[in-house]
Amino acid sequence: MKSEKHYDLVVVGAGVIGLATAYAARQRGLSVAVLERNAQCVGASVRNFGFVTVTGQRRGEHWRRAMRTRDIWQQVAPQAGIDVVHQGLYLLAQRPEALDLLEAFMQTEMGQGCRLLSRSEAAHELPQLQDGVGVLHSPHERRVESRDAIPLLSRWLQQSLGVDFYWNTPVQQIELPRIHTSQGLFHAEHCVVCPGHDLNTLYPELIAQAGITLCTLQMMRVRPAQPLQLPGSVMSDLSLVRYEGYADLPEAAPLRARLQAEQAEHLKWGIHLIAVQSADGSLVVGDSHVYGQAEAPFARDDIDALIQDELQRVLKLPGASVEQRWTGTYASASDVVYKAQPAPGVAVGIVTGGTGASTSFAFAEELVALALGD
Ligand SMILES: Cc1cc2nc3c(=O)[nH]c(=O)nc-3n(C[C@H](O)[C@H](O)[C@H](O)COP(=O)(O)OP(=O)(O)OC[C@H]3O[C@@H](n4cnc5c(N)ncnc54)[C@H](O)[C@@H]3O)c2cc1C
Repeated sequence: MKSEKHYDLVVVGAGVIGLATAYAARQRGLSVAVLERNAQCVGASVRNFGFVTVTGQRRGEHWRRAMRTRDIWQQVAPQAGIDVVHQGLYLLAQRPEALDLLEAFMQTEMGQGCRLLSRSEAAHELPQLQDGVGVLHSPHERRVESRDAIPLLSRWLQQSLGVDFYWNTPVQQIELPRIHTSQGLFHAEHCVVCPGHDLNTLYPELIAQAGITLCTLQMMRVRPAQPLQLPGSVMSDLSLVRYEGYADLPEAAPLRARLQAEQAEHLKWGIHLIAVQSADGSLVVGDSHVYGQAEAPFARDDIDALIQDELQRVLKLPGASVEQRWTGTYASASDVVYKAQPAPGVAVGIVTGGTGASTSFAFAEELVALALGD
């Protein structure tokens, strides 16, 4: 037996959803262990932008998840030694159809706290923005450097909140109170499975019913030739037809038609722009979306070129160079989250909308409640 301890709750998976679940369970006073297959977190949670996106999330419940998650990041980050690198969002509208959509968006409940900036205001706040017809500024977003933040979060959970971590410990079967792993048996009253895009190890038949596919994204780190400071994350017209909070509005149709005529290749590869900044001044830039039953293992130069093309359309970055490229994969479905209770005391949770960094802490509270039978 690997552990003699009997835990109130065991979490499977040390990605952002698993770590947020460990946090939510400790907030309820439960004893917690996290079992992770790998020696460290290497999945989507360290490959993403670390962009805690609120504005533009699917309206209603998911938007509220993002608001709550942002608030919890804000509390947890300083305690865990995680820097919030920047705050807020600048979305550059370059077509009248995009501005019409933003004006409609401002009338929705999600427009609260947001501003539509004039050209001169936008030029003052972010001089590197290319010309456009308007800029949406949202104050709600936060950005953390995920590759540092995730290890810091696990260390803090372990050292300050008393969560036990077992790395290199694939979980093979759950029969509460027994949890079978490659390292032996663990014992727990409850278990929350947060497998990310591993849909085949635990409860594969159940998960298969949800119609989940995989989505692979291409990402890059760009070094500006001249120093610049982004006061917030940056997005573009293409983002308005991807993020459901905008794309679900009727005013999105004319913009979609125009983008189809002008940027069909970008749309074909699911490209839109997110550019965020790191503490060393470099930018994390993406992304594209390729869907299938398996990860797309090979990054394509033509997709990278299209992402860089969109970056140059939106930000003035002469002489910028790409210094790192990577891919990442997440589970994707038409609904934005997948939750199931395969057995009493067990919950399975997957964020299927590509928004796990933005909705993790609130979703984790739901998963703990489901496992506990609240
Ligand atoms: C390139 C990219 C960019 C993104 N950008 C953003 C963004 O900026 N903002 C945002 O909100 N979201 C973003 N997302 C989505 C977000 O990263 C994911 O929704 C989130 O990371 C999923 O977290 P997770 O914990 O479910 O999965 P993961 O990070 O994949 O973690 C799951 C963990 O479970 C472990 N595991 C699985 N099965 C077992 C088992 N049987 N036993 C033990 N361990 C197991 C795995 O080894 C893995 O470590 C992005 C995703 C990608 C790929």
